[in-house]
Amino acid sequence: MKFNTKTIHGGQQNDPATGAVMPPIYQTSTYAQSSPGKHKGYAYSRTANPTRTALENNFAAIENGTHGFAFSSGLAAIDCVLKLLNPGDEIITGDDLYGGSYRMFTKLFQKYGLKFHFVNMEDASNIEKYINKNTKLIWIETPTNPLMKIADIEQISTNVKAVDDTILIAVDNTFATPYLQQPLDLGADIVMHSATKYLGGHSDLVMGALMVKEEKLAEEIHFIQFAGGAIAGPQDSFLALRGIKTLHLRVQRHSENGIAIAKYLTTHPKVSEVYYPGLENSKNYKIAKKQMKNYGGMVSFKLKDESQEATFKVLENFKIFTLAESLGGVESLVNHPETMTHASIPIQEREKMGITTNLIRLSVGIEDIDDLLVDLKNALD
Ligand SMILES: *Cc1c(COP(=O)(O)O)cnc(C)c1O
Repeated sequence: MKFNTKTIHGGQQNDPATGAVMPPIYQTSTYAQSSPGKHKGYAYSRTANPTRTALENNFAAIENGTHGFAFSSGLAAIDCVLKLLNPGDEIITGDDLYGGSYRMFTKLFQKYGLKFHFVNMEDASNIEKYINKNTKLIWIETPTNPLMKIADIEQISTNVKAVDDTILIAVDNTFATPYLQQPLDLGADIVMHSATKYLGGHSDLVMGALMVKEEKLAEEIHFIQFAGGAIAGPQDSFLALRGIKTLHLRVQRHSENGIAIAKYLTTHPKVSEVYYPGLENSKNYKIAKKQMKNYGGMVSFKLKDESQEATFKVLENFKIFTLAESLGGVESLVNHPETMTHASIPIQEREKMGITTNLIRLSVGIEDIDDLLVDLKNALD
């Protein structure tokens, strides 16, 4: 099955009881047993629920995995991956991460004895220097949020596995989506998504996903999912399934609008820098072109005027782009990373990363590009 068919049919079957084309929302916590322990595969909805199972099978299909897992949020999915590890284990990760990932690593898991190394992953060779016998996980985000840095998933996987093939490679694929990039095919062991974003696609749910291709790892993750309890509910599972059916159409349009906005910004006199991996003169264009099918709808840029006053004035003057956290929905959003999504990162760290006052992040939606360009022009002017 090709990707554009998998989004619709991957892991799906018509409801065996009624033929319903969409899986019913099995709004139930428990299931009748004919004799103790004798049931139809479902005993309690924390362990498994048929609507969630339908979604999890689809998750596996769209990332070319064998098993998918749906969590109550993207962060709950990351939390599950970290619980595969033990005190003393070390993780190598990027130096430009989603703010919530950074907060979880440093504020939650460091105190349980996990050690994190934050390195620039744009150069794959930076990673090997930090590998030692305690290294258990490489956590890659590409493109990164918000500076759109690109890491070479295949190169990193090859290099790391050559040193120690038991080290897990996990990729936060939220920004790219499996339409643009499929990390399991590039050597990764685990793919993670905030399904809140492009997979759901309509800004109407909060959910996380993990996809894997190896049986033993799937068993360990399933154990943590049901023992930890951060599962996705049946309503949200239904909505996510519905969203994924148009993922390929949406991300294609996000990408068309994304490159048009990025190109426009490069010509604007008030803009000093544009971060979009699909621009041919962007730093990581070559790697992006190699591992991505297109470049998506996330575009960041910096204003020449570095003051907060000038930046806020632009942010307040959009009419179609909504000033809000989050991304990946059909509607265009604008975000101020310094004070919104990335406010939890200490100021010194933020400045080192390049998340400055004049940085603006756009989640370009699937509206008509002419309207988006006019809105952007008006806000900037
Ligand atoms: C939003 C986001 C997350 C966290 O997901 P939630 O669903 O908000 O918990 C993780 N990684 C990236 C790249 C994100 O954009």
